[in-house]
Amino acid sequence: MTYAYDPQNVFARILRGEIPCRKVLETDHSLAFEDIRPQAPHHVLVIPKGPYVTFDHFAAEASAAEQADYVRAIGQVCAVLGLCPGDAGGGYRLIANSGDAGVQEVPHLHVHILGGRVLGRMLPG
Ligand code: AMP
Repeated sequence: MTYAYDPQNVFARILRGEIPCRKVLETDHSLAFEDIRPQAPHHVLVIPKGPYVTFDHFAAEASAAEQADYVRAIGQVCAVLGLCPGDAGGGYRLIANSGDAGVQEVPHLHVHILGGRVLGRMLPG
């Protein structure tokens, strides 16, 4: 499998500091920031700092350290936002749109964390 990463994508530019973001959390290998067009009271994107296009790309080629850091960062953001059901938070949804069928706009892996209201069905219909 080959993955073509576009270093000019908007999240690569955020990582280089060329575009501002509203940072929520930063770790060695991951960055979390608020989505510019929030679709729920809490809408945060978590990205790896490395050049990975999709979740499958990250799963195939990221180091174990990057993968562990990313999974932990996603969990930490859920906790920071107060969304964890185990802590009496209301719960949340994770989404990783990938490729054309997934309607991925930005070709740098990102997990959406959505919460703060009941989100309804996962897909319409
Ligand atoms: P998608 O690739 O379809 O999973 O979604 C890309 C997401 O990136 C959308 O929810 C956009 O609102 C968000 N987005 C695009 N540009 C920025 C930006 N400069 N800062 C924060 N979020 C952004």
